[in-house]
Amino acid sequence: MLVDGYGRKVNYLRVSVTERCNFRCQYCMPEKPFSWVPHEKILSFEELFLFIKVAIDKGITKIRLTGGEPLLRKDLDVFIKMIYDYKPEIDLALTTNGFLLAGIAQSLADAGLKRVNISLDSLKPEVAWKIAQRDVLGAVLEGIDAASKAGLFVKLNSVPLKGINDGELLELFEYAKNKNMPIRFIEYMENTHANKTIQGLNAKEIQEIIKTKYNFKEKGREGASPAQLFELDDGYVFGIIDPHKHDFCESCNRIRLSAEGMLIPCLYFDEALSIKDAVRKGDIAAAAEILGTVIANKPEKNRWSDEEGEKSNRAFYETGG
Ligand code: SAM
Ligand code: SF4
Repeated sequence: MLVDGYGRKVNYLRVSVTERCNFRCQYCMPEKPFSWVPHEKILSFEELFLFIKVAIDKGITKIRLTGGEPLLRKDLDVFIKMIYDYKPEIDLALTTNGFLLAGIAQSLADAGLKRVNISLDSLKPEVAWKIAQRDVLGAVLEGIDAASKAGLFVKLNSVPLKGINDGELLELFEYAKNKNMPIRFIEYMENTHANKTIQGLNAKEIQEIIKTKYNFKEKGREGASPAQLFELDDGYVFGIIDPHKHDFCESCNRIRLSAEGMLIPCLYFDEALSIKDAVRKGDIAAAAEILGTVIANKPEKNRWSDEEGEKSNRAFYETGG
């Protein structure tokens, strides 16, 4: 079992398999970074898998593959099968923008993927285009249906932005509800990479909009999930992720691995350590030691600040959100 210095059990590993992306979301990567990390600096699936085996043996029970856009990485289904074959009980999930999902959903499910979170910020083609800076909506909606048809448990993620998609928050909510898919509205997290002009809706504003049409009651947080859950009278449950609060840090159970091999204990990079040399040498003992050090140094709280004027340097496309 992995337990950090504050007594929190860490059992959840998020793995960013690439920082590259085929979207240019206004809140994440509005412009292509000056340079991508060169391919040779990115860990191969074999190298990532060596670390994942160590992490599973030490107590990781849930793994989420993310990015950048994870479906840009060739043979992701083979990688999923490697993890599944090592430990079929692992709760294996993926976060994707859904654009490439329709063509691969079935093979991901066949390989052992159980769950998928798909980002859906608008149901209007021109708004989805404005946010992702590409004509994306048709393919994403096909991806959602294909994932569901393949038997994957689908959740939707949406970032409400003032003056952009806030007018259709209820439509997004009802799209999810009609498909009986949970939806999580994520507060926009200010960061230096995002388009400077955008502003997000806060958790209270999101609730006010849903309240105009639906009654719901608070259900609290689900285990260690950062989402605050709400239940409608008919039993449908939706969530709001409000990272500007710190209260979910108390039960934080996760660490992150970047495609370059940085093992990140919290939303910030500061205490991250590289596992690259260890896995490139096939040194399992060294990889296990780095894992132990990162867990021991996991900070008590994220250093997210909502003080005016302060923005994080954190690139979501590097750490995987
Ligand atoms: N490309 C995939 C996707 O978009 O789902 C996976 C990576 S993306 C970084 C993971 C999640 O982070 C997405 O749900 C996205 O909406 C969210 N995200 C990215 N930038 C964000 C920001 N500035 N504030 C809040 N959520 C953000
Ligand atoms: Fe790409 Fe996901 Fe970031 Fe959008 S949120 S730019 S899809 S990594």
